[in-house]
Amino acid sequence: MDEVLVLENFIAGTMVPCKRLLDSYDPSTGRVWAKVPDSGKLEVDAAVAAAKRAFPKWSSMSAQARAKHILKVADLLESQLEEFAVAESQDQGKPLWLARTMDIPRAVLNLRHFAHAIPHHLNTSNVQTEAGVVNYTLREPVGVAGLVSPWNLPLYLLTFKLAPAVMCGNTVVAKPSEMTSVTAYKFCKVLQDADFPAGVINIVFGLGPSAGEALVVHPDVPLVSFTGSTATGKHIAEVTAPMFKKLSLEMGGKNAAVVFSDCDLEACLNTLKRSSFINQGQVCLCTSRIFVQQPLYEEFLDKFVEAVKELRVGNPSEEGVFMGALNSKPHLEKVRRYVRYAVEDGGTVLCGEGIDMCIIPEENKNGYFMRPTVITGLDDKSRCMQEEIFGPVTCVVPFNSEGEVVQRTNDTSYGLCASVWTSNLGVAHRMAHKLKVGTVWTNCWLVRDLDMPFGGVKKSGMGREGTQDSLEFYTEAKTVCTKIS
Ligand code: NAD
Repeated sequence: MDEVLVLENFIAGTMVPCKRLLDSYDPSTGRVWAKVPDSGKLEVDAAVAAAKRAFPKWSSMSAQARAKHILKVADLLESQLEEFAVAESQDQGKPLWLARTMDIPRAVLNLRHFAHAIPHHLNTSNVQTEAGVVNYTLREPVGVAGLVSPWNLPLYLLTFKLAPAVMCGNTVVAKPSEMTSVTAYKFCKVLQDADFPAGVINIVFGLGPSAGEALVVHPDVPLVSFTGSTATGKHIAEVTAPMFKKLSLEMGGKNAAVVFSDCDLEACLNTLKRSSFINQGQVCLCTSRIFVQQPLYEEFLDKFVEAVKELRVGNPSEEGVFMGALNSKPHLEKVRRYVRYAVEDGGTVLCGEGIDMCIIPEENKNGYFMRPTVITGLDDKSRCMQEEIFGPVTCVVPFNSEGEVVQRTNDTSYGLCASVWTSNLGVAHRMAHKLKVGTVWTNCWLVRDLDMPFGGVKKSGMGREGTQDSLEFYTEAKTVCTKIS
């Protein structure tokens, strides 16, 4: 039996043990592999107090000095890339190659990007001279930022919040998902090794309704950045509304791909199998509805199913495995339930759940695996076409005209992203204008410069993050008008 890792909170630069602990499972074996602090108000209060104490010094430091500290953390994290990738894969269930090539490199990039970008934006105020009065704006940090992140891209999303928050001069208290806390815990050790100023970054582990809620409603936390489900985002918006906090909510999606018959089919198939099933379909941007133009529909469906059947599911650390395990047993059960709903709603399962068996090693027999599943024949109003499943399930349906597909694509309560596949840039341009989402990809997916605004519309989100947007969110603008003559 492997040793179980016991995590501690990180408060005021010190690792602080917690008496109450939660079990955290390795999704590929179903075994407990870590114990996570079950923190509550007491621990959150201590972390917020530490962040508050650290604020005056950190916020008055120059942006360049802050960047120096963060770049040191980035270098140290990069030097431990493999160790972090192994931990992320074991904690989350994702294939090791994915943690190695996406999650951890992106966490390093988040730190470096904001360390380099924010100083160029922070103090470049607009200076206008009119009637002898100089007007300019100051961008000032907000205070203690509360950061709440989900389990699908643990360190990737934590650092996407953390880096701009501290670069703007805020101090933070972060609460990672109770299901994937290990890389955040290891990150605390990197902060210690980098001599990162104590109290600027505090990490408290625990459950959403206890640790998470204590953080978001804390009176000394004026700003909350949340990524997670729409239900939790709605709850956070409700409980924080009377407190007038700055709030950024990145939430669920029901993302469509629109495939026109003039597209480069091979490139489209290659990307859509990735966009539907990477990270076991557990990326908020994953495709879960594919609309294919009628002349191409049958050919697309045959080739897509054939390609999906070839995707290997198995032990996340094994070479050649495309999909690892889903993050938790209840989540696997939820995703499987949606496949049953699809059949009840008149759909046909073409491959995956209920059809193809997962061939996995004996040591993984209690892991949370399922095959990538393709469903067709569903009505646009059916549960699988409307609700977020957040797993390896995608639905393929035909369409005829551009006008029709715009209306059908927009017919959900979500609006995170979409991809459009066509060789006609006029069509691509019109689609980009008409789709009600935060990001439209044309003939590609998941490529985005970190300077670009990221976020969703409708139930997918409130606010944007990305260089300029993060700067605006993590600071308050102050206008200064000075009479000089
Ligand atoms: P979740 O909402 O269950 O949990 C997210 C985080 O919120 C966790 O840390 C959790 O402990 C915390 N939390 C739960 N209840 C809370 C409360 N009452 N107060 C404060 N914090 C609370 O989401 P999840 O299951 O961890 O993540 C999956 C969801 O995240 C999916 O819906 C996915 O689409 C979404 N997501 C969105 C984006 C995006 O950028 N839009 C990115 C990744 C994931």
